Formats: sequence, C-alpha cells, structure tokens
Amino acid sequence: MKERIKNIKERIENAAAGYGRDPKDITLVAVSKTIDAQRIKEAFYCGCNIFGENYIQEAEKKIKALADIPIQWHFIGRLQSNKAKYAVKFFELIHSVDSVKLAKALNKEAVKINKVQNVLIQINISGEVTKSGAQEDEAESIIKQISEFDNLSVCGLMTMPPFFDDPQKAAPYFKELYSLSKNIERLDIKNVSMKYLSMGMTGDFEAAIGCGSTIVRIGTAIFGAR
Ligand SMILES: *Cc1c(COP(=O)(O)O)cnc(C)c1O
Repeated sequence: MKERIKNIKERIENAAAGYGRDPKDITLVAVSKTIDAQRIKEAFYCGCNIFGENYIQEAEKKIKALADIPIQWHFIGRLQSNKAKYAVKFFELIHSVDSVKLAKALNKEAVKINKVQNVLIQINISGEVTKSGAQEDEAESIIKQISEFDNLSVCGLMTMPPFFDDPQKAAPYFKELYSLSKNIERLDIKNVSMKYLSMGMTGDFEAAIGCGSTIVRIGTAIFGAR
C-alpha cells in the first residue's frame, strides 16, 4: 500500500511538472468503494487523507467506524434525492450533483443542520445515455438555478469520459470540461466558483492533469482491482 501510494503521488507530481503545473494544485481523492474500513485506515496512515465513496449505505458504516481519524470524505457516486440527508451529513464535497431537483433536496437538508454544502456539478460531456451527469448545454441554466440555494456552494465541475484503452483519447472530453468551466467562470455567478475540476481516474489521470484537472479520483492504482 505504501509503495502504491508513493508511486501514485510521484506520477501526479511528474505529470504536473510535465505539463508545467504546480503539483500542489492537484488533490488526490482515494476512491474506496468496496474497500473495508481497515484498509482505508491503512491508506490513511500511508498518506491519503481524502476518500471518495459511491454508495451512501456502504459509506455510512465506514465513516462511523473511522470517526476517530481525521479523514475528509467526498461523495462521487450517483445520488438520489431521498439520500440527500445522509450525503449532507457525512460529506465535505459532493462531486455528483446533476440536477436542480437533487440540489434542492441537498439544500433543504443543509439548511436543517446549518451547513453550507460544497458541491460540484457533474457534466456528461460525452452525452452517452448510460452516463449520469447534466448535459453540457444545460449546464449554465442548471448552475444559475442552483446558485439560488443559499446553503449550497458550487465549487466546480466533475466528469467521467467514456473508457478508452488509450488515455489520450479521453483528452478531448477533459479539455471540453475545462473550457466549460472557463465559460461558467466568466458569467461571474454568485455562490459559484470554478475552483475544482474533478477529472481523471486510474487509467487516465495523467491526461486529465494535462487538461487542467485539480482533483483526481483514483481507486484501482491504490487499492488494487475491485
Ligand atoms: C470507481 C470510480 C473512480 C475510480 O476508478 P479507478 O479506475 O479505480 O481509479 C473514480 N471516479 C468515480 C466516479 C468512480 O465511480
């Protein structure tokens, strides 16, 4: 585990350096879906402090079991409005907000516990019907509506490109998300910043860093195949 985490951090640094970027601008989220609390704890003591989870029920158990260590939890999976309460209760950043309806449910729960919930808007750049995320051409309208929710803070965008054997083939999707974020930034919407671009996984994070990613979500390269 220690070796794998060291290796990933080196690859992030090298990719950043290769593209003329500061490695400090890239945050590693260790994706721990299906990984048990003991191994998450191990990864924490090997230098990961942010973990990404996909399923609320699975995450809740682990978050409670690991409550004594200062882990920051991110939610990266498909989220249903009826789970909004738990998402707001447990997660520092929710990467997967893709509708006004979901945002409204999250805002309502955030109001109840007096929290400003940080969220990213997930965009389905490829338009594949199997992928979650808002369509790119709806992004501006959705973000403007979400900006009206006082207990949500939109901090950026997230995407998952289609899978390619050659990671460079994902680059156009990453570039598209980057340029969308710049367009949104220029609109200067209150409550909305484009601080984070969550893009890049085990197979394509170096290409994503080359296209402006500031958060990479890496599971397999840290924990092994699921
Ligand atoms: C599983 C998952 C990842 C991590 O994928 P790996 O290929 O294992 O690095 C990243 N993001 C999301 C949204 C995921 O569901």
